[in-house]
Amino acid sequence: MSIRKHAAICCSKLANFICLKLGRQGVTWAGKIAITIYPDILKELASEVKKAIYVTCGTNGKTTTNNMLAAFLQSEGQRVICNSTGSNMLNGVISAFVLAADKKGHINADYACIEVDEASTLRVFPHFQPDYMILTNLFRDQLDRYGEIDITIELLNKALKMAPDCRIVVNADDVLSTALVHQSEHPAITYGIAEPCPDNPASTTEIREGQFCQLCGEKLEYHFYHFSQLGDYFCPSCGFKRPAIDYNADMISLRQGLSFTITNKDKTTASLHSNYRGFYNIYNILAAYSAAKAEGFSLKYINTVLEDFHPENGRMEQFSINGTNVLLNLAKNPAGFNQNISAVMEDTKEKNLIVVINDNSQDGHDISWLWDVDFERFADANIKRIIVSGLRAYDMALRFKYSDIACEAILSVEEAIKTMLDDNPDNLYILVNYTALFGTRKRLKNLEMEKK
Ligand SMILES: [Zn+2]
Repeated sequence: MSIRKHAAICCSKLANFICLKLGRQGVTWAGKIAITIYPDILKELASEVKKAIYVTCGTNGKTTTNNMLAAFLQSEGQRVICNSTGSNMLNGVISAFVLAADKKGHINADYACIEVDEASTLRVFPHFQPDYMILTNLFRDQLDRYGEIDITIELLNKALKMAPDCRIVVNADDVLSTALVHQSEHPAITYGIAEPCPDNPASTTEIREGQFCQLCGEKLEYHFYHFSQLGDYFCPSCGFKRPAIDYNADMISLRQGLSFTITNKDKTTASLHSNYRGFYNIYNILAAYSAAKAEGFSLKYINTVLEDFHPENGRMEQFSINGTNVLLNLAKNPAGFNQNISAVMEDTKEKNLIVVINDNSQDGHDISWLWDVDFERFADANIKRIIVSGLRAYDMALRFKYSDIACEAILSVEEAIKTMLDDNPDNLYILVNYTALFGTRKRLKNLEMEKK
């Protein structure tokens, strides 16, 4: 190993170690240090992956899908590299590989499961081209960071041109994703939910993306919607429509966690159960399942994996504090928030709610998207008390005011959590956007330890 490569790996690991000791996320620094010292580090380490590299892209569900896929592959005895913390820009991707390298500067992995921010694909793909891209969905995200959805689609189009041999595992119900795949002409593996789900009636007021055919510009028609623009669509002009579904979920029950059956393209079936909440998580499970199946795995232990799957990254993460069951979840754009509201409503028990909204760079300074979220639905969600918090607590309070929903504003997240827990509620939901996640999660972890 060259001295520079050795130095890159050592310095990177040291930086990560120090950050962790200081209670900070170290992966971004670790990656930056490694590539500054040795620019070929990612290219060389990624080339050592023995079987295949998966990349997960899409607006919502990347981290859950990617980590679940890694867990599925590990249950099949595979060694997997994964950027499980959700650091999905170039430096986060680099550090996933560098931190897994041994003393001799090599990795020992059968697979890599790497989530990549859509805007970062063009920076990551020069270092390695994935064998598979999982495309979860495309929704409008932080406007001032990503711009309108067309810009993201264009970026992914360019990225896919850099990886001509990549197979795409795509959500058939999302017209924006399938149109992208159709235009790119990459081979695709599709998953979806062919029929309407009675447990998940589609909202009639939700704002939907992709109303017009990406191929010819005609207004699309739908047989039905699941949520947002996901559903069974067709173009009356050019004939573009939802493709045949290779992995289809049906017999869906949302009453106690998620239960459903997947019919594979060879007509065999698998019955799945997960303690996860939220209809949208069926798509995340389907995506990871289809991706693992594409490599020929039987997934016979899938229900055990799902039962043991505790992502511990603020995606539907549970905490138990002094008898209160706390559920923390990230929600950073209208589609994500609307799905979170559905998940809160699937739980019919009485509950309290904290909503934390920040507007730091990673969140996007423009928070006008709050007005595109169906907060009105919280009026029927059996919520006893709502506190809004974070840098933009007052904007959130105003949004609730326009929905005729009472709430209190407490700017400090720590204070908001304390006030809520003093009430001793049975159930507390905390919905946070991006930069609020790490601090809120750390606070909850500490409280859980203190009260034990
Ligand atoms: Zn069309």
